[in-house]
Amino acid sequence: MFKNFDELRKRVVQSLVEAGVIKRRIVAEALLRVPREEFVPEAYRDSAYVDSPIPIGYGQTTSALHMVAWMCEAAELKPGDKVLEVGGGCGYMAAVYAEIVAPRDCEVKGHVYTIEIIEGLAKRAEENLRRLGYHDRVTVIRGDGSLGYSNAAPYDAIIVTAASPGVPRPLKEQLKVGGRLVIPVGTPYYFQQLTLVRRTGENEYEEVELGGCVFVPLRGKYGWNRD
Ligand code: SAM
Repeated sequence: MFKNFDELRKRVVQSLVEAGVIKRRIVAEALLRVPREEFVPEAYRDSAYVDSPIPIGYGQTTSALHMVAWMCEAAELKPGDKVLEVGGGCGYMAAVYAEIVAPRDCEVKGHVYTIEIIEGLAKRAEENLRRLGYHDRVTVIRGDGSLGYSNAAPYDAIIVTAASPGVPRPLKEQLKVGGRLVIPVGTPYYFQQLTLVRRTGENEYEEVELGGCVFVPLRGKYGWNRD
């Protein structure tokens, strides 16, 4: 059956605005610009605008739309920001961040680095982002993002899309002063707390818990599975 994805996208964004999850116009516009149906596997294309996680293979999911919006708002993304995402998955969220930090019609250009530990997913994110015209605004790296990505540090914002046992020290250290780190902290077998860490000084950080969430486990040196 024919699906009008533009219409479905508008409806879900409108419902997230009405629910107060999307607070800023720039976040709504970013979600309206990125075709989620082009990032998810063919079998889930028709469900692209159901506000729930969608399987992307390798036992992983791309996060629900309300979670994508919540993370963009919590990280206070804005044009010009340099962003690191830990957990690139299929590349969808990186494209949404890119539409906020480096919108086509804006002279201020930020950049998104997204790091993914599973090689097959890193390749898929790269392909998706290239095919959809994001390759100049998003760099995909294959590696352990629990260590951050020091080559491009420091960042205005770091967003971790997997559940971590704690706040990895390298991620805090790779924030600019004034930078924000958004990370789900807690056991991977139950709920986590979406946590906002703000670097307020050279050696000073403020941490607040924003609310409950559920993410797949963070792997790597500072994750649950220290491979
Ligand atoms: N942001 C993704 C998207 O737009 O599709 C969804 C991310 S999914 C919820 C979490 C991802 O984190 C998985 O793809 C998983 O392989 C990845 N991951 C887990 N531990 C990681 C690590 N240490 N470094 C990089 N990626 C990691």
